Amino acid sequence: MTRRGHSQQIEQLIRTLSDQGITDERVLEAIRTVPRHAFVPEDLRDQAWDNNALPLAQGQTISQPFIVALMSQALALTGQERVLEIGTGSGYQAAVLSKLARDVVTIERIPELSRTARELLDRLGFENVTIFEGDGSTGIGEAGDWDAIMVTAGAPEIPQALLGQLRENGGRMVVPVGPPGDQRLILLERHGRRHTQTDLGPVAFVPLVGSAGWPDAGD
Ligand code: SAM
Repeated sequence: MTRRGHSQQIEQLIRTLSDQGITDERVLEAIRTVPRHAFVPEDLRDQAWDNNALPLAQGQTISQPFIVALMSQALALTGQERVLEIGTGSGYQAAVLSKLARDVVTIERIPELSRTARELLDRLGFENVTIFEGDGSTGIGEAGDWDAIMVTAGAPEIPQALLGQLRENGGRMVVPVGPPGDQRLILLERHGRRHTQTDLGPVAFVPLVGSAGWPDAGD
């Protein structure tokens, strides 16, 4: 089914997100225009526009639209930024970020997910998204490289290496922190060597697995 075929469900979802406190019109428009139904498994497409997380391959999940919108809004993007995402999953959040920022780089540790997301984003024409495969828990690039960083998996603590890669003046990072089942969504804003920290509430993410994350259950 095309986006047009989902239009009533899309508008219902946009109303729900507005009611839940998503006020950034650019974020609402990005949610409206990125075809979420293309990013969910085929047998769950009829649920793609419900405000729920859905399962992906390899025991991973595509986040609830409200959480995608909340995390995107927290980064306060204007369209000029370079954004790093850790945890590509389906590629949906990266696609939403691509509508809000200049460039998006996203890293996924599971090769199958990374490959599928890359093929899909290429096919849909999201040209300002670059996908890398590997452990993104310590980030990528140099100090101060990123205007914004979004971590879409739960870290044991605030990832310091990622914080160091944020732009010094006003760089923003949003990251779920805490053990599975007891995570808080934390927004950090960097001011030189200091940062402010805001708790955006409880969340439930799969774990960030890697050198600055949790150990791999298979190791
Ligand atoms: N943003 C995704 C989307 O829009 O579909 C949902 C992300 S899913 C909740 C979390 C993802 O983080 C999983 O695909 C998982 O494999 C990945 N992940 C976990 N630890 C990682 C790490 N250290 N580096 C990169 N990806 C990681």
